Amino acid sequence: MILFLYVKIMYIYKLVFLSLVLFSQLANANDIPKITKNVVGIFNVDTNKAVNTRDVYGDVINYYIPPEINTITIHSPNDGDVSIDLQSEIEFVISEWREAGLRFKRLSSIQGTTRYIGYRLGNDASAYGYTNFNEPREGDAITRLSLEPSGFTRFIPDYYRRLMRAGMISSNMTMHEFIRMMVRVTLLHETGHALGLAHHDENGHEFIGGMRVGREIVRCGINISRPSIMQGGSSGSYLSLVSQFLSRPVNINDVVLSRNDLEGADRMFNSHNSRGVVSLFCMAVFMSMKGSEL
Ligand SMILES: [Zn+2]
Repeated sequence: MILFLYVKIMYIYKLVFLSLVLFSQLANANDIPKITKNVVGIFNVDTNKAVNTRDVYGDVINYYIPPEINTITIHSPNDGDVSIDLQSEIEFVISEWREAGLRFKRLSSIQGTTRYIGYRLGNDASAYGYTNFNEPREGDAITRLSLEPSGFTRFIPDYYRRLMRAGMISSNMTMHEFIRMMVRVTLLHETGHALGLAHHDENGHEFIGGMRVGREIVRCGINISRPSIMQGGSSGSYLSLVSQFLSRPVNINDVVLSRNDLEGADRMFNSHNSRGVVSLFCMAVFMSMKGSEL
């Protein structure tokens, strides 16, 4: 009986030690800031409740791609014109966000409707893309999401060279491939805004007019979770973080949403029944670790 108890205690100590080893190994695997994995949602200042995207769009999130932007051209100063199948890129981005459990529908006509995400091209050279939330008004999208080809032309060549010098993209990645990858990063990111997400570092940040505020809705510090697509500042830092996360140069297939991004979009859509801040994905990983130890 005593012997049995002794063995049992030893067993427990051993388990604790093993779990510590496991965590410290993960901690050494990469050291990118944990905050870059958290997800921040847009809240109403008056009510302190999340801006519910089901209220904004309805049960099905409609989106519209004007036929004239199905294929676009982005000019690159040293490499000439690059043609992008924008329609396919947007469809890819929608299919990614669909993984949050959201339902989307592409509109073929916007006659008589305003509650949709309207994709468009802008002419602002100071960013890669924008998302604007409008008051519902006749003949326009409640959320306008623009890609800015002139911003790409201005920023892309330098950014391409910097990432290549740092070994964060492969030395044989062409400018065409790089532009396509940046279009995808931008569309995933801007669509995240359209789904109610703010930048990862905007917890407590007040937005235009002081009516909206950022609140952390998914927190997940574990190392195996990817950086959020909603990186603040220039979209630039996202690719660097993914490269650090993977410990190798990135390619377009590495540009995917994190589980936390998906959970964030789900929470913004179902925010009337809030489920707290700790990531379910984190919790699931913790539980499975615990399960394997026991
Ligand atoms: Zn943004």
